[in-house]
Amino acid sequence: MNNFNTIQALIRDLPVAFDTEQVSLGEAYNRVLRQDIFADMDMPPFHKSAMDGYACHFEDIGNTLEILEVIQAGMTAKIPVGKNQCVKIMTGAAVPDGCDCVFKLEESEQVDDAYVRCTNSKTSMNICYRGEDYHSGELLISKGTIINTPQMAVLAGAGQTAIEVCKAPKITLIATGSELVDPSKKPESGQIRNSNASQVISQLSKMNLEVIENLTLADDYQKLMEAFDAALDKSDIVIFTGGASVGDFDFIPEILKEKDFKIFWDRTGIKPGNPMTFSQKDDKFVIGLSGNPVSSLAQFELIAKPVIYRLMGASYRPLRFRASLAFDYFRKKADRLAIVPVLINEEGQISEIPFHGSAHINALVSANALLEVPLNVTNLKKGETAHVRPL
Ligand code: AMP
Ligand code: MG
Repeated sequence: MNNFNTIQALIRDLPVAFDTEQVSLGEAYNRVLRQDIFADMDMPPFHKSAMDGYACHFEDIGNTLEILEVIQAGMTAKIPVGKNQCVKIMTGAAVPDGCDCVFKLEESEQVDDAYVRCTNSKTSMNICYRGEDYHSGELLISKGTIINTPQMAVLAGAGQTAIEVCKAPKITLIATGSELVDPSKKPESGQIRNSNASQVISQLSKMNLEVIENLTLADDYQKLMEAFDAALDKSDIVIFTGGASVGDFDFIPEILKEKDFKIFWDRTGIKPGNPMTFSQKDDKFVIGLSGNPVSSLAQFELIAKPVIYRLMGASYRPLRFRASLAFDYFRKKADRLAIVPVLINEEGQISEIPFHGSAHINALVSANALLEVPLNVTNLKKGETAHVRPL
């Protein structure tokens, strides 16, 4: 039986499926890096003053020092600093050759216009030494990293302006269900608004991905098949929502079989969200999510996101951490990994929010994390710890 752990192992074994492209630094944020980034020079590139103050020889601390010149960031010293001499120096400026100490402005005493003395005989050196952050040739960012804010700064610092990243896969989203109407419409009897499309599109957008087409289709085998064919022609990934289960009108598994797709799994072992397929044929991938909104959200977060990142060559690891429960949790059946929307409160504890199950998407509005209750665990006592994933 496929449970969540086997699925994770299957995801790890998936190949990198999409090509790379070069983007400018300005376009690199939130893309998947597909090259290693090495330092082209030492950082800092020169001995750099960490303070606004005076650069001198440490052995002269305590003496009255002659001020030779003022060095601001971006400039270098013109005159060598000798015995009992110093330069006034600003943060970020290059420390003159031979100087081994910068004493802070706040620890200085002006003797007259041209002379100064350090008031702290135990001053720190206040120098960032050349290469202390990294050396030329050092690996700075590994292939597979999802480029976040710190990586943007490091890329810029390393002079990287043409960066190899994963090409965004072309994705078509097909929400299935004869009961679905567009959010702009008032549902008539038996109908509901399509909320999954917005949900999935926003999930993709967090990954810096877009859908090339967003379709809503009735549970009509023929129409679904035609739309699927058209979608396969122009997309790398087709995401379905709904119709993933075993009902009379749940056509997605049937369509995939008919089309000779390899089905990696069709059950997830998570609750809510058991029926979900992931399948492949050649270089095309299909993700079939549940129709129930909380199920599709949990499936996307726990499974579809790692799948897509893996296919993109990203070394993605979701942020999970243990926190203690502020309530007693109980369930009767523990045959699946339970995913429970919760609120991490200001004390960092997991607190309960009203939640009625897989259709109750508005519960998620007040949630900021998903609690994981492991397989075979029925009880979690207040004060015990469990894994949570921030939303
Ligand atoms: P299904 O997976 O197609 O059996 O759908 C399960 C439940 O989710 C049903 O109550 C559907 O009406 C509902 N549902 C399916 N698709 C959507 C959607 N796109 N937006 C909101 N609810 C949906
Ligand atoms: Mg349906």
